[in-house]
Amino acid sequence: MKSRLLTALLAVTALNVFAQDSLTLRHISDEIMLHGTCYDNLRVLCKKVGNRLSGSPQAVKAVKWGEKAMLEAGADKVWLQPVDVPHWVRGEEHLYVKAEGGRKTELSMLSIGNTEGTGGETWDAPIVMVKDLDEFNKLPADEIKDKIIFFDYHFKQDLIFTFEGYGDAVRYRWLAPNLAASKGAMAVIIRSVSTGEDDFPHTGAMRYFDTVKRHIPAVAIGNYSADWLVKKCKQGEVTAYLSAEAHMLPDMVRSYNVIGEIKGSQHPEKIVVVGGHLDSWDVGEGANDDGTGCVQSIEVIRTLKALGIRPKCTVRAVLFMNEENGLKGGLAYADSAKARNEEHIFALETDAGGFSPRGFGLDMNDKKKAQVLKYKNLFLPYGVYDFNRKEGGADISPLTKAGVPSAGLLPDPQRYFDLHHTDNDVFENVNHRELKLGAVAVTGLVYLISEHDLK
Ligand SMILES: [Zn+2]
Repeated sequence: MKSRLLTALLAVTALNVFAQDSLTLRHISDEIMLHGTCYDNLRVLCKKVGNRLSGSPQAVKAVKWGEKAMLEAGADKVWLQPVDVPHWVRGEEHLYVKAEGGRKTELSMLSIGNTEGTGGETWDAPIVMVKDLDEFNKLPADEIKDKIIFFDYHFKQDLIFTFEGYGDAVRYRWLAPNLAASKGAMAVIIRSVSTGEDDFPHTGAMRYFDTVKRHIPAVAIGNYSADWLVKKCKQGEVTAYLSAEAHMLPDMVRSYNVIGEIKGSQHPEKIVVVGGHLDSWDVGEGANDDGTGCVQSIEVIRTLKALGIRPKCTVRAVLFMNEENGLKGGLAYADSAKARNEEHIFALETDAGGFSPRGFGLDMNDKKKAQVLKYKNLFLPYGVYDFNRKEGGADISPLTKAGVPSAGLLPDPQRYFDLHHTDNDVFENVNHRELKLGAVAVTGLVYLISEHDLK
């Protein structure tokens, strides 16, 4: 009988805890939806700083912006963590194609990030089109040598969770230049890794393999341009004329992660970290990738301060530098955490766009996952229900590897790969309510874990 009474008492206590948490989440939501500054912050980042590739002058401006925004949010302490980053420069670039008997037509293209261009000269060669790696692998080297290879691999539109389609198609961005160079190709064109029904080309990172001697140019073309090129290639021989000034500068550049924190009231030594990446590609405004993650992370600090919530554990917001083409910021943060023997109890990344939040991907052991899943119902009023995937984030991946329980915000994924790494990733393509709802979800989870720890 006694034990039954005890069980009932414990259940009531648990209910009360959740009732209190539910109320706090409501306060967090009201504060952000009514007084949130993340949308205004994003406007300044996108319109006053603009795109901000690592090593560029705009990245310097972005660091200053981040430091100021973090101070305005009311962080107890704001500091810059040094990171040495690569500096890649795009320069002028053009791709023309000419079918037999036709006119030269310019296609919408972007050099793929980190590639070497043509030194600004125009290189011309016949195009060899392949639909995938299997078809490429079957081609003898003499059919590839000195040609420009067009990989017409399509983003799998039937995969509802678009990050799966991205994982599948992005292989072509990384592999194509390396594979084609090893068989003597002059250059590579890929169909953009894109869900878009449009002609925006998507850049993004690649890396030349150590085993590949020649660093050949690689460019991506928009989906409509790719459709058109497929038609022309099927009709007969097509010649490509490519000029690109893209190159990697020899020296690394000193840059910074921007960090702001609120000291924990009971366990200041335990750290809950939330972040996004401050750098972007050198096109568009880096709005959804990942301006939204930066302003949501800053909003966590602002909201806790505005509501007078003193978290039990330390809450730290980090704007990581160089996620796009090197991950140096994420690596530097994890190195510093290790060197200073810091205890990170949880890391959360928001780098999947500023769309309506749907859930959190969780990358942690089952016991900790079970604890997070107990909070699931608290998020349902905010449309956040999906806790089933295993996701974290690139910037926090070095922490995850070191054993820190990790999570990634999962917004609705249908539009992210229309926009990211393009000229179309601009402020106007972020909705203020969706962005703020994402900030509510992120702040809610950070609050719950800093309040109850993650054991
Ligand atoms: Zn990103």
